[in-house]
Amino acid sequence: MARLQIDAVSKRFGAEYAVHEVSLDIADGEFLVLLGPSGCGKSTLLRMIAGLEEPSSGRILLDGIDITDIAPQQRDLAMVFQSYALYPHLTVAKNIGFPLRSRRWSRARTAERVAEVAGALELSQLLERRPAALSGGQRQRVALARAMVRDPGAFLMDEPLSNLDAKLRSATRAELIALHRRLGSTFVYVTHDQVEAMTMATRIALLHAGRVAQVGSPEELYDRPITAFVAGFLGAPPMNLFPAEVVSLDGELRVRAAGIDASLGISAGSPSGPEILAGIRPERLRIDATATDIRGRVTMVENLGSEELIHLDAAGIDCCVRAARPAGVQAGDDLRLRVDPADIHLFDRASGHRLVWQEPEAPTVHDATAVSVA
Ligand code: ATP
Repeated sequence: MARLQIDAVSKRFGAEYAVHEVSLDIADGEFLVLLGPSGCGKSTLLRMIAGLEEPSSGRILLDGIDITDIAPQQRDLAMVFQSYALYPHLTVAKNIGFPLRSRRWSRARTAERVAEVAGALELSQLLERRPAALSGGQRQRVALARAMVRDPGAFLMDEPLSNLDAKLRSATRAELIALHRRLGSTFVYVTHDQVEAMTMATRIALLHAGRVAQVGSPEELYDRPITAFVAGFLGAPPMNLFPAEVVSLDGELRVRAAGIDASLGISAGSPSGPEILAGIRPERLRIDATATDIRGRVTMVENLGSEELIHLDAAGIDCCVRAARPAGVQAGDDLRLRVDPADIHLFDRASGHRLVWQEPEAPTVHDATAVSVA
């Protein structure tokens, strides 16, 4: 069992907050990914959970017990670092067994447990090698094995895949997902790589400037971002964000800017007009010669192999479309795009908060409360 509760935790370095009033309830067996841009406080938060950094305020609870002031080695947690931190002069077997020997386990018992864990991570053939004679992926597995050997309640991982090349990273990602399923332990995993977050997490906590921007399943964050920051952070290429306004025309709400005029599929009685950001993911735009939703001129076409990224200038606003290759367009072409109303996300331009336009019960009656912030 390992439920981790982070209760209003802050960390200040001098006058600056690295982590600001973060609260998270991480259930037993979850794979929670702390995601965010460089410097947003992910590592500091993980180090506070591990006990390597002391919070300036707030509490951390493990299975209901306050561990904020407990020494790292007394917490039932194992940390895997980006650098692996293996001992270069020790064999793989001794590296893996180190946490047990330092807890005064006998040689025989340690060897037994090391063999068990090495078997699970396919390291049995490498036990007598030293770290220098291992590939990056093998070293990473040794670091994991050393964390697993104590059978901790939770694993804390700080960018453990960032030293691996792309192919190995993807293979190790799959291994970690399988390992998490097999062990059923709680994983808290720091990364700035959204692909890692989307593929591995049961939940993502996206951090921004030391605060939680949104917590939820990968699908929730991708499909229903609660701020323009979240919308722009997840997705490669990111969501297109158009400064626009919402107007009421012929009884329906439309989102409008110089290069965009698209229906929101909602009936409304009177103009709404607030300044908004209209967000549309590149894969949700369709090229259609008869469409009038978005018009622009192609500035560049990027070939991704199976797909193309088509960049256009929509009346001064950059817009990107992801299309199957070949889409048959080139720089200089005039392009028309269609978008489904359900694929338009709306954000308040000043605050960045998601806006929800609800269908009024009586479509012809303007209802000021129909516009709310999610
Ligand atoms: P990255 O992805 O680049 O590792 P991160 O999200 O893990 O970034 P942190 O390493 O947690 O970010 O740092 C958060 C902020 O706290 C940064 O502005 C960083 O400069 C600052 N910081 C971290 N450790 C210290 C320290 N020991 N002293 C002063 N400032 C620090």
